[in-house]
Amino acid sequence: MSPVSKNKGVIDTKKKRLKIDICGAVQGVGFRPFVYRLATELGLAGWIINNENGVSIEVEGEVGILKIFLQKLETCKPKRSIISSIKNEEYEPIGYSKFVIKNSAIGGEKTLAIQPDIATCKDCLSEIFDSNNRRYLYPFTNCTNCGPRFSIIESVPYDRETTTMRDFKMCPLCEKEYNDPADRRYHAQPNACPVCGPHIELWDRNGNCLKQSHEAITTAVEEILKGKIVAVKGIGGFHLITLAEDEKAVLRLRKLKHREAKPLALMFPSIEIVKGVCILNNVEESLLLSPESPIVLLKRKSNPDINIAPSIAPKNPYLGVMLPYTPLHHILMRLIGKPIVATSGNISDEPICIDNKEAIERLGDIADFFLVHNRRIVRHIDDSVVAVFNGEPVVLRRSRGYAPLPVEINRQTRPVLAVGGHLKNTVAFAFRNKVFISQHIGDLETYQAYLAFKRATSDLPQMYEKKATAIVCDLHPDYLSTKFAEESGLPLLKVQHHYAHILSCVAENKIDYPVLGIAWDGTGYGVDGTIWGGEFLLVNQGEFKRVAHLKQFLLPGGDLAVKEPRRAGLGALYEIYGDSVNRKIPTFQSFANNELKIIFKRLKDGDTFPRTSSAGRLFDAVASIIGLKQICQFEGQAAMELEYAIGDCKIEDEYPISIVGVEDGKPDKNKETKFL
Ligand code: ZN
Ligand code: ZN
Repeated sequence: MSPVSKNKGVIDTKKKRLKIDICGAVQGVGFRPFVYRLATELGLAGWIINNENGVSIEVEGEVGILKIFLQKLETCKPKRSIISSIKNEEYEPIGYSKFVIKNSAIGGEKTLAIQPDIATCKDCLSEIFDSNNRRYLYPFTNCTNCGPRFSIIESVPYDRETTTMRDFKMCPLCEKEYNDPADRRYHAQPNACPVCGPHIELWDRNGNCLKQSHEAITTAVEEILKGKIVAVKGIGGFHLITLAEDEKAVLRLRKLKHREAKPLALMFPSIEIVKGVCILNNVEESLLLSPESPIVLLKRKSNPDINIAPSIAPKNPYLGVMLPYTPLHHILMRLIGKPIVATSGNISDEPICIDNKEAIERLGDIADFFLVHNRRIVRHIDDSVVAVFNGEPVVLRRSRGYAPLPVEINRQTRPVLAVGGHLKNTVAFAFRNKVFISQHIGDLETYQAYLAFKRATSDLPQMYEKKATAIVCDLHPDYLSTKFAEESGLPLLKVQHHYAHILSCVAENKIDYPVLGIAWDGTGYGVDGTIWGGEFLLVNQGEFKRVAHLKQFLLPGGDLAVKEPRRAGLGALYEIYGDSVNRKIPTFQSFANNELKIIFKRLKDGDTFPRTSSAGRLFDAVASIIGLKQICQFEGQAAMELEYAIGDCKIEDEYPISIVGVEDGKPDKNKETKFL
């Protein structure tokens, strides 16, 4: 059948049939029920079906109504759906009698993009707090527009049987919703209610059940209000929760969690209360209220309406703030009515706990109580962290709400697994024109983190039923991720750390080569064996040239300098002044005399310490030289405090910068981008 020519007219000018193809992220987000409802409301007939790229629709009716249908497709589409293209052609009507959702062709149902976990939607929220609703105060309420996804999926295709919700058989009422195309819960895989779904319990630290259902929540709230620490199982793992106003409770949490000074994240009951404590602009407000619902870094007010314990974020003008994003959090926060600390349920930098028994074992010495439930979590997913710079959101930790959505690149690739660096590790798996990025895994310093890393490397390929044909790792010979890649038996590519940073920006922003990339970083292994981190790389297809870098200096103690900015301070001072350096500078005051003697002897000897061009270490050096920070309690602390010390101050006098002896960097031997 050929499209009806517009010029020649048609037999029935009033009625037409449209064939519509929509590409984009339109599966698993309630798109088909939305189209069903829209067509039915407008009295249009036809069908919709999922396909490999999105959906196909045929719809017929009066021309004017079809126009409205097309408009509403774009303006009223489900929040989580993304339409990347929409094409339509006109045909003669063939007399459909009603609108139906067709079953997808065999093998064609594979959802190409597995959705992230999504914050509770408005409709579910009003049901949870409606005493006449059958889901009143039910902490696992969800629908096609919200709820768990990535945290409960075991394999594709995304179906109830491939999620941990297969442990629960739907009751007749839930089943009816699930099978009704007109219902908001049509094919909502985690659909549940108090009759058939998961349940909540309050345990003591030995794993004995104290209370069940809503009483478990109200008892937990009473304990939190008394200043106790409660471990709460959320969507992607456990939080440790305590009152944000209670300095004693916060200090106790810090001590037990072995977290000396790193800022703790807060959950607020409402956006209004956030506004009483922090200054926030429109972008920050919409991020807090978004379906991704990340932790947003917000500037504190100088006179907040309510008290926030000083030890939550010492010496820090910002607070990491989020709003409730699951029904359980909403119910808890309504009852508590004040901000709480909601920090990852782990010790130090280990991955967060996801299993009830594991939580009792690992967090039993920290939490006084455990608010647990019986919906299994397949993989840990931390809260994401976002900051707004120049009006643009910048994702600092990409996890819940974002992972595992892919970055689309403008070329095709065969399946490749990339295993990331040592600190703040994530892994990525690419095939076709998509790079799927794992949730935040963390620093590969502990056995737990390494296990989580290994799980993630098998997780993504398995989920898409693909096998990696090559593996990519960092150039650093000692990273655990490098060793893992070397032992994988797959064809191996090593990529220089900062080159990889720049390539990521190129891919994410779809920039054409050549590119001058500037990577300012902590530390990364350079192709010349020195420590890089203040690099200007001219990048072309498959290669780069190091055209400039920050002036290098010696780093006494190597890795130890990351924790002790005073070492970077000594190295930088020695580079500039040699022996004639003024020893009254605060950097020197923090060392014992005999320590200084040894370090200076080695500095004179030359290359027994590594050389670095790292911007991070330069910030450390400055923080030390001006007497701000000599020894850090967590990575990046000195640079953060330096930034806060500068505050909003305007730079009037710039330091002269000389560009000396730009050298040609060694061209990289690996032609890794040929793979991508
Ligand atoms: Zn919902
Ligand atoms: Zn039910």
